[in-house]
Amino acid sequence: MNDNLYELFRSRFPADPSRPFIETETGRVWSYGDLQDVSGHYARLLASLGVAKGDRVAVQVEKSPEAIFLYLACLRAGAVYLPLNTAYTRAEVEYFLGDAEPRVAVCRPDQETGFAELAARTGVAHVLSLGQDGEGSLPDRARDLDPDFATVPADADDLAAILYTSGTTGRSKGAMMSHRNLGSNALTLHRIWGWRPDDVLLHALPIFHTHGLFVATNCVLLNGTGMLFLPKFDLDRVFGLLDRASVMMGVPTFYTRLLTDPRLTPGACARMRLFISGSAPLLAETHRAFRERTGHAILERYGMTETGMNTSNPLDGERVPGTVGFPLPDVELRVVDEKTGAPLGPEEVGIIEVKGPNVFSGYWRMPEKTRQEFRDDGFFITGDVGKVDARGYVHIVGRAKDLVISGGFNVYPKEVETVVDAVEGVAESAVVGVPHPDFGEAVVAVVLAKPGAAGPTAEAVVAACKEQLANYKVPKSVVFVDELPRNAMGKVQKNLLRERYAGTFGG
Ligand code: AMP
Repeated sequence: MNDNLYELFRSRFPADPSRPFIETETGRVWSYGDLQDVSGHYARLLASLGVAKGDRVAVQVEKSPEAIFLYLACLRAGAVYLPLNTAYTRAEVEYFLGDAEPRVAVCRPDQETGFAELAARTGVAHVLSLGQDGEGSLPDRARDLDPDFATVPADADDLAAILYTSGTTGRSKGAMMSHRNLGSNALTLHRIWGWRPDDVLLHALPIFHTHGLFVATNCVLLNGTGMLFLPKFDLDRVFGLLDRASVMMGVPTFYTRLLTDPRLTPGACARMRLFISGSAPLLAETHRAFRERTGHAILERYGMTETGMNTSNPLDGERVPGTVGFPLPDVELRVVDEKTGAPLGPEEVGIIEVKGPNVFSGYWRMPEKTRQEFRDDGFFITGDVGKVDARGYVHIVGRAKDLVISGGFNVYPKEVETVVDAVEGVAESAVVGVPHPDFGEAVVAVVLAKPGAAGPTAEAVVAACKEQLANYKVPKSVVFVDELPRNAMGKVQKNLLRERYAGTFGG
C-alpha cells in the first residue's frame, strides 16, 4: 500500500480529466488532467536532478497554479515540500536553506542570481525559477519531459512537508509534517465541513502557510472539484467571484474588510454555503455583524502549523461567536495547569494540549526542542491559553508567551481586549505587557478606533476596564494607533508592539 498523500488525492480526482481544478482571475482554467500532466513534468524534472525520497525542495515563489503543481510534484517525487513566505528577506532565506539543506531551491525569476549565491553558500545543488505567470526555468526545463510519473511509494510516517512556524515569537522552527498528518487532517475537515460534489472554493489566501496550502487546497483536492484562485485578497476581485463560489476560507481580516463594503449583502452571498475563518481570533463582534448583514454564521476553527486543524465549530449546530468550536473527531484536546501540567476542568483557563494523527512529527533537527513541547503521554503543548466551556466549546484566550504578569498577577490579554473592544468607537485592541519598574510588567492597551467614529478616549477605555476587571488588569497606558501591525496571516504581531512600547514606563 502506498500512503503517499498524492495517491489519496488521485483516488478522489474526477473520472473526467477535463473537469476544472483551478480557475484564475483572467478566466484561465487548469483541469485535473493539467494537474496530472504538469505535476508529472515537474516530478520528472526533480527526479532527474537527483531529488530522492526525503530530499527537501525549498520554494519561495508567488502564488500561482504552477506553484500548486510544484507542491504536488514534490509529493509525487517523494520529496519534502518546503514553502517559504514570499516576504522573507535574503538573510532569512539563507537561514532556512542552511537549516533545511534542500537539494533544490525554487525562487522567483528576478531573484535567480541572488538565490544562486545563497545556494552556493549553503550547499544547495540546484536553483530553478518559477514566476507568477508560470514562466521560469522550472517550467522551461520540465515542459518536454514525459508526464507519466509513477508516484514514489511513501509510508504514512514519511515526511511530506516542512513548514517553518510563522515566528510571531522567537526563531522559526521547521515543523515536520508526514503524509499521515496532512492526509488525516484533510479527510477529517472534508468530512465535517460536509463538502459537496458541486462545491467551489474561493481561494484568496497565501499558499506558503498551512491555511491556504493544506486546509484549503487539500480539501479541494479531496473533493475533486474546483477553486477560484486569487493572487491575494482584494475586495473588487472577491465581489467579482462571490456569486460563483460556495465555500470561502479566510483570516479574520478578510471578514472585517468585507464588512466595510456596501456590496456585502445577502444577495451577494446567495450561492455561498460556508464561510470559514481561522489563523487568528475572529472578534465576536465581526461574527455578529457578518451574520446580521448576510445571514451567514462564520464557522471559526483553530489550528496551527504544527498540528494542522484541532477544533471547529459545527457545520450543523450552533457556531458560537468568540469560540473555536469542538475538538475534531480524531483529536484529543485538554486544558492543563500551566505550572503543574495537571488537567483542568470545564471553564478553567490553562494551556491547551492536543494529540492525534494531525500532530506533527517534531521540529526539523531540533530533537531537544521537540521533546520539550511534548508530554510523556504524547500530547503536544500548543502554547495557546484557553478553556473548554460547560458545553464543550473551546475558547482561545491568548498565547502563553503573551501572558502579562503584573505585580505577580496573571493577566490574559484576551480578557482585557474583550472589554476594550466593547467600548464605543473601538474597532479592535491589542493588549501587551511592557516592563514596569514597580510591577515587573504593566498592561498597555493599543487601540484602533472605528473609522469615522468619534474617537474613544483613554479615559473611557480605562473606565470600562475599571468597571469590569480587577484593578491589576486595567491598562496603565492606552495608546491609539491607525493600524495594528499584522503578519501575512492577519495575526497581530504583539512582539512588535511590546518593542514599540517598551519604554512607556521608563524601561
Ligand atoms: P500558525 O502556526 O501561523 O498557523 O499560528 C497558529 C496560532 O494561531 C495558534 O497557535 C493560535 O495562537 C492562533 N490561532 C489560529 N487559529 C485561531 C483562532 N481561530 N482563534 C484564535 N487563535 C487562533
